[in-house]
Amino acid sequence: MPVLVMKFGGTSVANLDRIKRAAKRVGVEVAKGYDVIVIVSAMSGKTNELVGWVNETSPLYDAREYDAIVSSGENVTAGLMALTLQEMDIPARSWQGWQVPVKTTSAHSAARIEEIPNENINAKFAEGMRVAVVAGFQGISPEGRITTLGRGGSDTTAVAFAAAFEAERCDIYTDVDGVYTTDPRITDKARKLDKIAFEEMLELASLGAKVLQTRSVELAMRNKVKLRVLSSFEEQSDDAGTLVCAEEEIMESNVVSGIAYSRDEAKMTLVSVADRPGIAAAIFGPLSDAGVNVDMIIQNIAEDGRTDMTFSCPTDQVKRAEKAMEDAKASGEINFHDLIADTEVAKISAVGIGMRSQSGVAAKMFKTLSDEGVNIKVIATSEIKISVLVDRKYMELAVQALHDAFELDKAA
Ligand code: ADP
Ligand code: ASP
Ligand code: MG
Repeated sequence: MPVLVMKFGGTSVANLDRIKRAAKRVGVEVAKGYDVIVIVSAMSGKTNELVGWVNETSPLYDAREYDAIVSSGENVTAGLMALTLQEMDIPARSWQGWQVPVKTTSAHSAARIEEIPNENINAKFAEGMRVAVVAGFQGISPEGRITTLGRGGSDTTAVAFAAAFEAERCDIYTDVDGVYTTDPRITDKARKLDKIAFEEMLELASLGAKVLQTRSVELAMRNKVKLRVLSSFEEQSDDAGTLVCAEEEIMESNVVSGIAYSRDEAKMTLVSVADRPGIAAAIFGPLSDAGVNVDMIIQNIAEDGRTDMTFSCPTDQVKRAEKAMEDAKASGEINFHDLIADTEVAKISAVGIGMRSQSGVAAKMFKTLSDEGVNIKVIATSEIKISVLVDRKYMELAVQALHDAFELDKAA
């Protein structure tokens, strides 16, 4: 029988009623003749609560125990979903990651899926089981320890299962009815897209649009998984939601397809470092060794052989970055006068494959922000995106102004 993957996020399984509603959706697909693999998240808020308990118990926690604890939310919803389906007379059972097994790397809290053997689940399908409910976000390392895939990781579990089982489609059920031109929570002018190209979705996700985990889009693109985002709160037709697909499948699109934002950014400036060959390696090597995810980088013009180096990283890595730089200074690898951390910034990005062939997008973006009196602190560009760092207090205003300026409320 053809296989379908259906993933339900935290708000879609937030309580027993919602689990029932999700199970009914699953029942509709089972009735159509699909064998269904359901991937569930933890009930909304649960993962945050578990992370909070870990931090309170042990600030410098053992990452293996973090994963053991934080993965548990999904176990509860997987069992409850299987029971709900059984109550509807649909043959179903739950699977935790290790039981499948979802084999991952040992990078705790940021593990990558390496392999999902399909024999165990397929054997059950062959025996008449119609739904395999799998706990998302988790797997097992080569050492036999429980791992998790990073926040939002159930999306990646879903796509990885769709690839491993050659599913007809991977449906991501969430609390919005698709991918929008920007986060619909920021402006009611945000418009739902019927289709979005993998490359654009990849950029939007990695620049902060949390509707899909970045890695899930990467996997879908590489394995040609038919990926759809849709609402678990409405009745759904077969073409509902947003299809994430190859560029060639999209006939018309705006130059800019979407605006993303990321609230938790910090701008760090090393004041007065020596302007010499090897200085960048001496700074960014230790940062990388300390696990700091550096994003944007600017090196200012040098004066008297000294320069300022500015970079951005997630706010929760500022302490780690500061320590890495102080340690490098103490060991004589680098020298600087001061390290200034600005933790009140946000990143705003415009994304669109149309930028490849059309110029003037950056100029329009900068002019729009300047008309709003928003100062740009750092700029970064790639072929299909332009990102700026601005004061966090202007974040919403900047997203709304850019959404208006690029007329994203109107279809191409
Ligand atoms: P789930 O719990 O189902 O995984 P998430 O909270 O992770 O759901 O992702 C859905 C949320 O993503 C939406 O509620 C929305 O606020 C946010 N979001 C951010 N950018 C976008 C966008 N461009 N389109 C749709 N939703 C977006
Ligand atoms: N429950 C996990 C999280 O909140 C994984 C997920 O929902 O995708 O990050
Ligand atoms: Mg999510």
